[in-house]
Amino acid sequence: METVFSKIIEGTIPSRKVFENERILAFYDIEPAAPVHVLIIPKKYIASMNEVAPEDLPLIAEIHSVAKQIAKDLGVAESGYRLINNCGPDSGQAVPHLHYHLLGGGKLGALTG
Ligand code: C5P
Repeated sequence: METVFSKIIEGTIPSRKVFENERILAFYDIEPAAPVHVLIIPKKYIASMNEVAPEDLPLIAEIHSVAKQIAKDLGVAESGYRLINNCGPDSGQAVPHLHYHLLGGGKLGALTG
């Protein structure tokens, strides 16, 4: 399915890339919610957490590993950061392509629900 993120992966929509390999892309969010706000996405199309299949679990593990490295590279590993996945309408998931928000660079607000 084509989404704004598949266009970012293809390069037809520009992004400020932070990390890329054959399976994963990370780029700065265009509407940052924190001083550091990076989106980490699989290049494989997965609509949301609900569609993650058992064979995708190595990819999900790699996304966590990439997040850890990005946090280190961007200088927020020690001060702290959040890795957030929104899944489905009640969460506010706006783009139907699995993605993780890495937020940091300052004191973050309390989680609300
Ligand atoms: O979790 P959710 O689906 O709400 O997050 C989507 C995110 O994608 C938003 O934070 C939005 O700012 C970001 N976005 C982006 N570049 C685009 C379109 C959306 O960084 N071209």
